[in-house]
Amino acid sequence: MHRLKCIGVLTSGGDAPGMNAAIRAVVRTAIFNNIQVKAIYKGYQGLISGEIRQLYTDDVSYIIDRGGTILKTARCLEFKTPEGRQRAYDTMVREGIDGLVVIGGDGTFTGARVFGQEFNIPIVGVPGTIDNDLYGTDSTIGYDTALNTIVEAVDKIRDTAASHERLFLIEVMGRDAGFLALNGAIAVGAEAAIIPEFATQEDQLERLIQNGFHKMKHSSIVLVSESDTTGGAVGIANQLKERGFNPKVTILGHIQRGGAPSATDRVLASRSGVAAVDALIQGQRGVMMGIVNNKIVQVPFSEAIKDEKLIDKHLVDILQVLCV
Ligand code: ADP
Repeated sequence: MHRLKCIGVLTSGGDAPGMNAAIRAVVRTAIFNNIQVKAIYKGYQGLISGEIRQLYTDDVSYIIDRGGTILKTARCLEFKTPEGRQRAYDTMVREGIDGLVVIGGDGTFTGARVFGQEFNIPIVGVPGTIDNDLYGTDSTIGYDTALNTIVEAVDKIRDTAASHERLFLIEVMGRDAGFLALNGAIAVGAEAAIIPEFATQEDQLERLIQNGFHKMKHSSIVLVSESDTTGGAVGIANQLKERGFNPKVTILGHIQRGGAPSATDRVLASRSGVAAVDALIQGQRGVMMGIVNNKIVQVPFSEAIKDEKLIDKHLVDILQVLCV
């Protein structure tokens, strides 16, 4: 087996709290194993343009508690073209980088899969996204922190909702996945969650009305996924207005992406970062580091991105039982 001499690390796509903890783990594990490690800035963009520098242990001191990513991130359209990926490969050769750790979401791994196959490069992934929408892992780095941010914000909104006996629709992130909305709803004791996974199976709005928030305890809180499938909080509010309700809309927005990572995300990021470098050393490629039943597992990129991660129906049932 060809021994790895130098690996590159990058963060790509949407930032997520805990990415820095993962970078730190990658850098220190590589150095521990006498492998050079180079920072690639702004995701695949930096790989194309050559924004790269070697990292040392000290470069990742005092970052475990910081949200965002010290490597910056970007969406890079050029990487979707064969010419762009050729330029990225040329940079890798020039820099002497013979393996990559990419930290990001499904777009990042889609790109990594194509790139790795095209140029026969060992690439492993670390799932960093608040959306938790990668298949083959129980959780992604940043998801727990975002969930906690949602809980903190909604607890505050609840005070106003209760004081004025109001119905609040609170839109949360998650792209086309309802994990944040559903688990957030359970965690704040919301009356309901409207999530994309069930949009085609039932009229969630009708159920909501029948379950009777016109009974209005003291207030009603409904978490709505941002997805186009649900129509978001504004879409649901418009439908409710047509039926004579007067909901208030709050869109939590980007506060959900920032902030210091939770202990759970820091530990997950540290374990995943170590595992990623170990996987490269063992000659693995084309796999994402997932976590299942508290064990790190290697999930092929093709599996991770297949867009089929299912919501646990049991959680939907729990919410219904508890919200009465
Ligand atoms: P995330 O990784 O958070 O899902 P994006 O979907 O924006 O974020 O993807 C991040 C980057 O991955 C894109 O900006 C692009 O550079 C790269 N990428 C995404 N899809 C592809 C693809 N089909 N082919 C090549 N690169 C891709």
